[in-house]
Amino acid sequence: MPAQIAKIVTNLSLDKAFDYFIPEHLRSWVRVGARVQVPFGKAKSYRTGYVVALAESSDRSDLKSIAAVEGAHLHIPDALVKLAEWMAQYYCCPREQAVRTVMPAVVRGGKIQQKQEKVVTLIEDEDLKDVMPDLEGRAPKQAEVLRALVRHRRQCTLSNLKKAAGVTASPVYGLAKKGLVKVEDQTVTREPQADDVVLPTEHLALTEAQQQTLDMILDSIRDQKAETILIRGVTGSGKTEVYLQAIAECLANDQSAIVLVPEISLTPQTTERFRSRFGNEVSVLHSGLSDGERFDQWTKLHTGSARVAVGARSALFAPVQNLGLIVVDEEHEGTYKQEEAPRYHARDVAVVRGKQQGATVVLGTATPSMESYYNTQRNKYRLATLPERIDQRRMPHMEVVDMRAEAVLRGGAQIFSRRLEDLIKDRLANGSQTILFLNRRGYATQMMCTKCGFVATCENCDLAFTYHRRDAELTCHLCGEIRPAPSTCPSCGDQEIRYSGIGTEKVEAAARARFPYATIGRMDSDSMTRKDSYNKTLNAFRSGRIHILIGTQMIAKGLHFPNVTLVGIVFADLGLHVPDFRAGERTFQLLTQVAGRAGRGEESGHVIVQSYTPYHAALQYAMDHDYESFYNEEMEIRQALKFPPAKHMIIVHFRGENEAETRSTAENVVAELQPLLPDEADVSPPMPSPRPKIRNMYRYQWCMRTAQILSVGKKLRRNLLGRNFRNVHIAIDVDPQSIM
Ligand code: ADP
Ligand code: ZN
Repeated sequence: MPAQIAKIVTNLSLDKAFDYFIPEHLRSWVRVGARVQVPFGKAKSYRTGYVVALAESSDRSDLKSIAAVEGAHLHIPDALVKLAEWMAQYYCCPREQAVRTVMPAVVRGGKIQQKQEKVVTLIEDEDLKDVMPDLEGRAPKQAEVLRALVRHRRQCTLSNLKKAAGVTASPVYGLAKKGLVKVEDQTVTREPQADDVVLPTEHLALTEAQQQTLDMILDSIRDQKAETILIRGVTGSGKTEVYLQAIAECLANDQSAIVLVPEISLTPQTTERFRSRFGNEVSVLHSGLSDGERFDQWTKLHTGSARVAVGARSALFAPVQNLGLIVVDEEHEGTYKQEEAPRYHARDVAVVRGKQQGATVVLGTATPSMESYYNTQRNKYRLATLPERIDQRRMPHMEVVDMRAEAVLRGGAQIFSRRLEDLIKDRLANGSQTILFLNRRGYATQMMCTKCGFVATCENCDLAFTYHRRDAELTCHLCGEIRPAPSTCPSCGDQEIRYSGIGTEKVEAAARARFPYATIGRMDSDSMTRKDSYNKTLNAFRSGRIHILIGTQMIAKGLHFPNVTLVGIVFADLGLHVPDFRAGERTFQLLTQVAGRAGRGEESGHVIVQSYTPYHAALQYAMDHDYESFYNEEMEIRQALKFPPAKHMIIVHFRGENEAETRSTAENVVAELQPLLPDEADVSPPMPSPRPKIRNMYRYQWCMRTAQILSVGKKLRRNLLGRNFRNVHIAIDVDPQSIM
């Protein structure tokens, strides 16, 4: 017997699911994931909601009935409803919000429909020879239509046919009357890339390391082990080729696959590799799609007419059938974490989706996140390594320059060391190119001495202090330690102590002064406000018209310049001492990635890392391309200080226009909830955020670290979700990527 009761979440119910009666005539249409209209509240108003579960009975007797089921073919697949439920619980967000996340707005909105077009098909092609001579004389336009149709392999949309034959619709309908063609409405797919030609490629013969990795993946897929496999392989070690062959196996087994890449690498070059292997089976989901295109791609995946989804973060929710494999490329990338609610991490949710659906999950990167590598050590994930580049090219030569010594020798802080300057001159003389990279991440400023390299750091937390200009104070935003900001260096007494970093403009000015005959380009988010200025600079650099390119994160990733043989990292400390426990990890990743930009052509490259703290582990191990040692040392620190991945972290953010009110709300919430948390949890007091005021909103945060993430999350969720704190907005961030 079909269920009589549906549990429904609506945009007003926030988190609660409400029971509704399913009227007889709707029983065969209402299913989990369906979008429905329901009466809500006292007034006779209707709301859109989603069915999250079905039941035989309800505790209540006064149930209202579902009024209508919308777009019956557009229900959310059960698997995604289940995944949304997990996300709502784990990330402490309302269920309705999670349900909305797994379904694109254009599909949810219900306004976009599949596109119908009139399609003309030739019926009587055998008799064509007989009718043509007659038509040529009496109806030359009809004859033209038939010829155009034959050129189009007997079928064509009416609008294209009119163009091809240079006629109006009437000769086409004339032919239809004679029974020579038929004109029908057909659903057509809006294809964003229908016009690019992609040449097909074949599988490459794999190296031994690739074959072993592929076998591990195929075993898992075949036996539906739902394993997660981490591939650690340097750039160019052939990871993508392994993904491609694993996907091919899925398709052969009638399964589908999802490939996630960071938005920044969702370039035509990347997607082309998938399309050239799998043609129309590939659906590329990116932010540039029109609503109609997005709708059609979703539908194609839903109906199984495309079985490989490639896209950034949200492609994880591709509604594919019979999922066999999820690939998360560059799994360490912070952009997999969504920074607004629901604050999910696509890599972690991918692992859960894989478990729920019996699919294998493959994570690939040259520099695994601490979380993922830790999971291989605990045997939660399996590890595969591709230690060498396919073309046997050597890794670039890396060298640290001690900028403290440089400052002492030359009587003050410098932007370029003599070593870097000499190498740049070399490059200018022999016609190869240089990239100067400035790692300007994070917004908080720190205190740092440019003479001795002293960085003001909290002893309790081993985190750089944040400098608060307004009060001239240094604060640790993890334990709340506060002290006055010194005006001379506590370590060497120098007066040149700095409270902020340098920018790309300053580097550019210095480079122009030093190398007056060189052509210099700059690429950062300030100078690249428009897409074509970005492309212009890139093209100028690629063609050799720019000798030295200066930039930020923007140039670290995914770009290939064979003529670049030198990379200078101007101020490696900038990313190292931001008040974030992942600073070392991010710096290691970034140095490894930036280094990958050097010497991609014939010559092996040279990387100069300028630093005031040259003995920092992240720098030293990056110099040696030694991930393993970096991981071991970093993990020791994380264990000792109970930072992720040793424990999970949750931050509760408070935001309000009135500072006192924001603070007291934070204090009240903490006072109320702290007693409910397990003793094992490390709980910080509520405190101002490292960026305490943004756009006139005061910000406080409450941070905790726990091994019992689910039960702690549940308590926060139950007590904070859907509660109204008047003028203060509260947000819960589980497993935050940034602690600012
Ligand atoms: P990654 O994804 O690890 O950066 P790719 O799969 O892109 O590595 O491989 C790097 C280059 O080597 C690509 O040009 C690719 O076509 C080529 N390649 C990969 N595997 C092989 C192989 N087994 N034999 C020959 N060339 C290969
Ligand atoms: Zn501290």
